[in-house]
Amino acid sequence: MSIIERLKQNLQERETKALYRRRKLIQSPQGVRVCIDGREYLNFCSNDYLGLANHPEVIKSFQQAANDFGVGSGSAHLINGHSVLHHELEEALAEFVNRPRALLFSTGYMANLGVVSTLVGRSDAVFEDRLNHASLIDAGILSRAKLQRYAHNDVNALQQLLISSQAKEKLIVTDGIFSMDGDVAPVSDLSRLAQKYDALLMVDDAHGIGVLGQRGAGLLEQENLNSQQVPILMGTLGKALGTSGAFVAGDDVLIESLINNARSYIYTTATPPAIAAATLTSLQLLQTESWRREKLKQLIQHFRKGANECSLPLMESATAIQPLLIGNSSKAVALSERLKKKGYLISAIRPPTVPEETARLRITLSAEHSEEQVDQLLETLAILINMADYDG
Ligand SMILES: *Cc1c(COP(=O)(O)O)cnc(C)c1O
Repeated sequence: MSIIERLKQNLQERETKALYRRRKLIQSPQGVRVCIDGREYLNFCSNDYLGLANHPEVIKSFQQAANDFGVGSGSAHLINGHSVLHHELEEALAEFVNRPRALLFSTGYMANLGVVSTLVGRSDAVFEDRLNHASLIDAGILSRAKLQRYAHNDVNALQQLLISSQAKEKLIVTDGIFSMDGDVAPVSDLSRLAQKYDALLMVDDAHGIGVLGQRGAGLLEQENLNSQQVPILMGTLGKALGTSGAFVAGDDVLIESLINNARSYIYTTATPPAIAAATLTSLQLLQTESWRREKLKQLIQHFRKGANECSLPLMESATAIQPLLIGNSSKAVALSERLKKKGYLISAIRPPTVPEETARLRITLSAEHSEEQVDQLLETLAILINMADYDG
């Protein structure tokens, strides 16, 4: 069978199993209301948790920086693409997360590849939660270290693996908030284990940065874990911060090693300086507009209370990610389509993004939602989910 034949067969299989992926064409800025095919939808699936992606101040900084610095960065950071704006943002991020230094990457995916493959290699082992984000799993594979996955949030299972490991060096890697589940990693326990078994701990806080902690500095702020306890912190800028890119924070040796070794840092064009300027503004807004975090917290509680009252299949999550477990992929897709007809945008998440038979509707809340909008959603969900015929 030729490669092309194989691809065609794969696409057909995807279609019959309701696993075919299609993109929607968004005709408006990101926000609580988005426009598709000329129709407006209430959006419950973006990661713009604080509503900063289309914030006027963020846009203004972006425009100003584009006037002053142009659009393209022109080259990689190590050639001559590292602008004063990138540098200023790195310093602000380091201070924000209370670590000695931070380094910008073009995407979170690339940050993860770069960190893991810089830290470990052939004779080492990397221990990962089963539900870690795909970029962390890929990073483990790329590093050539032995990839050992432990049951989700199972500290005892991890301990067993650590005890029996023959690896030279050990790296433990976890999502802070699990992206498709919304639950939180037991980071304090993981940090104790790492210290006990002489392993290094890395936390990917893509969904916690901006949202958790008193100042919005993320899960590690909320759990009071310093850079001794969690030496490697990764955060993304495309979610709560509303812009694009990612950063890694840690000590001098870590950052200098990444600059010198991380291939996904070295061999790629720096993001536009205007993105850095916009991110500096979101970082300030996070702090001056702390009501966004408070509001989000209230909406999460409001949603969960309502969802429990109408017996929706809620998953165990205290964060802005509030998935409803559906199970069957066709059912999840049918539900998502029914919701769309009624004016709600919620994507169905299917295998292999999540384990078999755990397809779900991944609902995300934003500080820009109102309680009324959440109530409307709950009402619609209660009708649709309790209806037997939604897969028709
Ligand atoms: C979104 C996400 C990433 C990837 O970040 P991008 O900047 O979108 O490439 C990495 N890790 C986790 C846990 C994520 O949710």
